[in-house]
Amino acid sequence: MNRRHSRRGDFPPPPEPLPIPVPDSHTHLDIVLDQEATGRPESVAAAIAAATAVGVDRLVQVGVDVDSSRWGVEIAAAHRAVVATVALHPNEAPRLSNVDEALREIEALAAHPRVRAVGETGLDTYRTGDEGRKAQEESFRAHIAIAKRHRKALVVHDRDAHADILRILDEEGAPETVVMHCFSGDAAFARECVTRGYVLSFAGTLTFATATPLREAAAVTPPDRILVETDAPYLTPMPFRGRPNAPYLIPLTVRGLAAATGMPLESLCEAISATGERVFGPW
Ligand SMILES: [Zn+2]
Repeated sequence: MNRRHSRRGDFPPPPEPLPIPVPDSHTHLDIVLDQEATGRPESVAAAIAAATAVGVDRLVQVGVDVDSSRWGVEIAAAHRAVVATVALHPNEAPRLSNVDEALREIEALAAHPRVRAVGETGLDTYRTGDEGRKAQEESFRAHIAIAKRHRKALVVHDRDAHADILRILDEEGAPETVVMHCFSGDAAFARECVTRGYVLSFAGTLTFATATPLREAAAVTPPDRILVETDAPYLTPMPFRGRPNAPYLIPLTVRGLAAATGMPLESLCEAISATGERVFGPW
């Protein structure tokens, strides 16, 4: 995501802490710090402290363009709780006049040891129309190649594009580790992703009343393929939908996942923590 100041209202109060700490597998701290809302964390350190206090002790900072990717690498180098991903967002790539140069910068950043994945990249047919489709697909293919060259995970943004995402990953040959960020499919699509070895990262959308297919998807996903994310400052979980999001709100989504999967909260947290370390770690 790369919209700014899109949320209204104040940051919600902290939820009950998790029994075992988990990582937030996808956050945009730069945009969180930029929100004009009461309760906004004043610094990266403050955002980390608020999250750690409720059992969210590790974060994956996600890049959406060259500037945010560069910033992510800097804060990951400065904070042990943060690792970074770098990419041009699928809605960003079609807007750039010199994509090749931007991709060269992303590739240079991808080599940094604190960068653990290439993403978010993928397809978004919701925000990018037909005119940008070709550039978006070429950018996705280029990011897959960068991830493979640097042996990093791939963080996939899939908005209304399930079949094309799988087709392109099949055609290119997927990197060893693929994370479906903000998983948005049903149980059948979850099974297709699991069969290919992918990891599914669930966001606050899982807690929305209308999200029955998403909860069914979580229920058929093996525990060692589940991650949890905020996509902060977007996609705030219930009961705070519409207000700004930050990593300290992960416990609400983890509890929603426990209900959806029937897993005891402690075992779910242990599984998410271990999967986070396998995919993005060690922090
Ligand atoms: Zn995102």
